[in-house]
Amino acid sequence: MTLPIRPPRLIPCRSHPELILNLGSCLAVLAIVCIVTFLLARERDSVEQAAMRASGNIVQLIESDILRNAELYDQSLQGLIWAVGRSELPEVPSQLRQRLLFNQAFNDRSRGDLLWLDADGNVVGDSTSIVPRQANFADTPDFKAHLNIPGLGLLVGQPFQARLGDLGWCISFSRRIEGPNGEFAGVAAGALRLSYFSELFRRLDIGEKSSINLLNSDGQLLAREPSRPGDPAIGTNFSHRTNFKRILEERSGSFTAYSERNKGTRLYTFARVGELPLIVLVVNSTEEVFQSWRRTTILVGVATGVLCLGILWLSALLGRELRRRNDAEQGMATLAATDSLTGLANRRRLDQTLRLEWARAQRNRKPLAVLMVDVDHFKAFNQRHGHAGGDHALREVARAIERCIRRPADLVARYGGEEFQVILPETELAGAIMLAERIRASVEGLPPFGSDEQPVTVSVGIGLYNPDTQHDLARVLGAADEALYRAKANGRNRVEGPDA
Ligand code: GH3
Ligand code: MG
Ligand code: MG
Repeated sequence: MTLPIRPPRLIPCRSHPELILNLGSCLAVLAIVCIVTFLLARERDSVEQAAMRASGNIVQLIESDILRNAELYDQSLQGLIWAVGRSELPEVPSQLRQRLLFNQAFNDRSRGDLLWLDADGNVVGDSTSIVPRQANFADTPDFKAHLNIPGLGLLVGQPFQARLGDLGWCISFSRRIEGPNGEFAGVAAGALRLSYFSELFRRLDIGEKSSINLLNSDGQLLAREPSRPGDPAIGTNFSHRTNFKRILEERSGSFTAYSERNKGTRLYTFARVGELPLIVLVVNSTEEVFQSWRRTTILVGVATGVLCLGILWLSALLGRELRRRNDAEQGMATLAATDSLTGLANRRRLDQTLRLEWARAQRNRKPLAVLMVDVDHFKAFNQRHGHAGGDHALREVARAIERCIRRPADLVARYGGEEFQVILPETELAGAIMLAERIRASVEGLPPFGSDEQPVTVSVGIGLYNPDTQHDLARVLGAADEALYRAKANGRNRVEGPDA
């Protein structure tokens, strides 16, 4: 029967390098993910900023064009009012009169036209022809406003479909004409074609899912490009929309918000046109703005994922190798400290432990007992049972001795041949005698081997270090040896303490 080899107690040494490696690679992966996320977020920000800047430039360009037009209309209306007020005007020949009344910029009607309305709303002067077209505008809101409220200045009206000519959708600019005593004498009105803005907007490349819009402060859409089927028509009112309310409140700027109409997020860049009740609004689809960023993010994300997985996989491989090496080293260390026959600590380990416990006993001023255990008449036992039988008996004796050991700091080792040594730190003589006696009795209690009638027995000699004496280790071991000889001499199967 063979005894399973039980490794001697060793100081546990788990794989710290593997732990550090795993922790390090996890931290590296975390750092990579954080850095990549930070860079992508920063890139997203700069893409958004660039889109806002580009849209802001468009808004400014359009704003200054509208202001220039508004100024042209205002100057033309003021020129008309000045000319109307001249007393010599009726005597001036009709062609010259036309030149005096109306700015040359309105000759070709690409922008729109100018009209001079009398106090009843009838057209009395027309920039498009010397003979004015017949119409009455007394029912229009702008006419009524000037009639009832003096001092309105330049009035920008609601979008309307032109009654005269083929101007289509227009907005009006108008001023009140007053008589010498400040009484209402008519209205100087100009119509600006909204298609003029559509043509202007069309010239700007804005992106397929984005749009340039002109609205008035009442929330009515005046112009929009590009216009696609299903897009809101001219005149559509946005005043109830949350985003429009915000635009009206902030006057100019940019923000990203959910669009109720498009069911997606949009980047709104807008500005109020001077002091006019007009708002230029560029709406960008965020999908379009971040399209290339999104592609980059997917690419970088996949590359980072692969890199991180690679790092984790490599560190797992390396960790496994480290663990294997560590296990192998531990196995070797265990083997190097183990006696192959009995599985007890070997002589090497015994010497190490003895030095250690000796130093500790001296430092802590504690006693240290050493038991020398020798199997009695073992040569004869070997002769009776052969060496294999002897080996078996040695293993049984080793197990019997080991069973008697209770304290974790105690150590049983094979000293050599059929001799064992037991180190008992912090053990007084009485305790050592008790344990030696227990070992002796335990071995004696083993069942007899083969045909033997007598059991195997051991003799035990005790060596003791007492902190009050000046003993050295060799002397303690020598005392244990002497005690063992005395035990042998006194009949064997007995315990002898150190000489008094
Ligand atoms: P004593 O009672 O005086 O100790 O007598 P002893 O015969 O035990 O002492 P001795 O030192 O004369 O003999 C020791 C014997 O132990 C010699 C050898 O045959 C045997 N022996 C030593 N190591 C081993 C071993 O590893 N296996 C076996 N089977 N026998 C061993
Ligand atoms: Mg011997
Ligand atoms: Mg012997």
